[in-house]
Amino acid sequence: MGFCIVKILVAYSLATMSKAIYQANCKKCPRLADFLKASKQKFPEYFCKPVPAFGDPKAKFLIVGLAPGMHGANATGRPFTGDFAGILLYETLHKFGFASKAKSVSVEDNLKLKNCRITNAVKCVPPANKPTIEEIKICNKYLKNELQALQSGNVILALGKIAHDSIIRSFDLKLSQYPFGHENVHEVGNGLTLIDSYHCSRYNTQTKRLTQKQFEQVFKKVTDTLDKNKLLWSS
Ligand code: SF4
Repeated sequence: MGFCIVKILVAYSLATMSKAIYQANCKKCPRLADFLKASKQKFPEYFCKPVPAFGDPKAKFLIVGLAPGMHGANATGRPFTGDFAGILLYETLHKFGFASKAKSVSVEDNLKLKNCRITNAVKCVPPANKPTIEEIKICNKYLKNELQALQSGNVILALGKIAHDSIIRSFDLKLSQYPFGHENVHEVGNGLTLIDSYHCSRYNTQTKRLTQKQFEQVFKKVTDTLDKNKLLWSS
């Protein structure tokens, strides 16, 4: 009898979990689903679906961005690939040993990430790059699932305030107690460390709000933390 209850609970938990895993055909945000449909009509060669996470499934380092860019991830199907936002990110990933190449061009470029995974807080391209609060909350279940896969000692890098807030929300923590700030470091429970950075967008890099040096300082914090936890290049 007890064994049956355990089996039912495990089955329920797996069913619940599988619902939260990225789904290529998700249309839970009507505005974004309509926008994707219109984008596909305008750019038939583009990916135009919710963009999946990219990288090492067992990574100890998870990077969280905002949402796919219209002519970047929405076009190519890989986060931070195809537009300006990925230039500094992949250069820095390569410099610190997390990427096999310094440029991410397309899903067929054979670029590999080592001990690193990249995802977005919102998986579908939003109009004007601005998801609504409701859309961020709806898509949060996918991010939550990605964060639950992490283990003690792992590091999360939030690129921008929306990514930061989504991560804090995923852990059911209070935003007021975990303020976003460039180079802020937060212990978010379960032995996980969250490090904040300004987003590596064209606007932020061209206005020097985020310089290459500043971004590399953030990555130094990431690698120092992983190294301290003996998880930098462990398998
Ligand atoms: S943003 Fe997320 S929840 Fe909304 S439709 Fe896209 S994948 Fe689904």
